[in-house]
Amino acid sequence: MKKGLTRKKARDAAKVQRATVQRAQRAGRRQAAQGARRLSPAQYDSDKVVVPRPDLDVLPGAQVELPFQFRRAFVVLIVLVGLVLIGLVVAQNWQGFVALQSAGYTDLSNSEPASTLAAPKAGPARIGIVSGHRGNDSGAVCADGLTEAQVNFDHAVRVASLLRAQGYTVDILEEFDPRLRGYVADVLVSIHADSCAYINDLATGFKVTRAVDSPLPEADDRLVVCLTARYQRVTGLRFHANTVTYDMTQYHAFYEIDRATPAAIIETGFLYLDRTLLTRKADQVAQGIVDGILCYLNGETP
Ligand SMILES: [Zn+2]
Repeated sequence: MKKGLTRKKARDAAKVQRATVQRAQRAGRRQAAQGARRLSPAQYDSDKVVVPRPDLDVLPGAQVELPFQFRRAFVVLIVLVGLVLIGLVVAQNWQGFVALQSAGYTDLSNSEPASTLAAPKAGPARIGIVSGHRGNDSGAVCADGLTEAQVNFDHAVRVASLLRAQGYTVDILEEFDPRLRGYVADVLVSIHADSCAYINDLATGFKVTRAVDSPLPEADDRLVVCLTARYQRVTGLRFHANTVTYDMTQYHAFYEIDRATPAAIIETGFLYLDRTLLTRKADQVAQGIVDGILCYLNGETP
């Protein structure tokens, strides 16, 4: 009896011990599972994790699905951000690309870097107009006292007002305007006129040119072609190519402005033989220059 009692006691004690151990194990699993839920996936996967890992059969979902969902969401987010960035780049360059296509520059792989192609910028364009000789000297002078500087300024003001009416920002600059140093704009055109002396009957016509060593040859050439074609169309004046001078191709302002600003100089006509056009039909002169600038800015085929 005593022996049997002792054996029964021992059995009971063992049963109680097993139950206690099982309870402790269950409590431990529960704690571990709660700890795992509180942890972020990164912490959970880390080697430095402090809370013990729950048994696989306790929380299989929490272990496998949460990090995977996060990872999948992250990959989807990265792909979406990438697509949006590509879309933005394409949208920003599309206008310039179309302009280049219409100008005949179809092979982009061998062309100059994008910055030297001077693609139209987003937003309203800024246009610089140099009123030839203004603020410095009279330029050519006619027998009756009419000066080239006066005629140029009349043209510059007309050009500026026509462009401003279309929403463009226009700066009228003097011949040696301090703003010319590092001047940044979508385009700069300097307006001059030729001699008022009678040279011969051939001293009639206009000229347009750019810097002989332009840092933007493609953009400047297109500006020159646009100005020439539109000015000729509106005024009917002929292009006087053989009197393009060193003063024009090495014009000082070309070397003062920012290297990214496309620029050209126009001699609107000879003050002697073309005086009627330059003074009495100044609106045509201005319209021809404006049309040339817009032809360039809009990427039109001249
Ligand atoms: Zn001049």
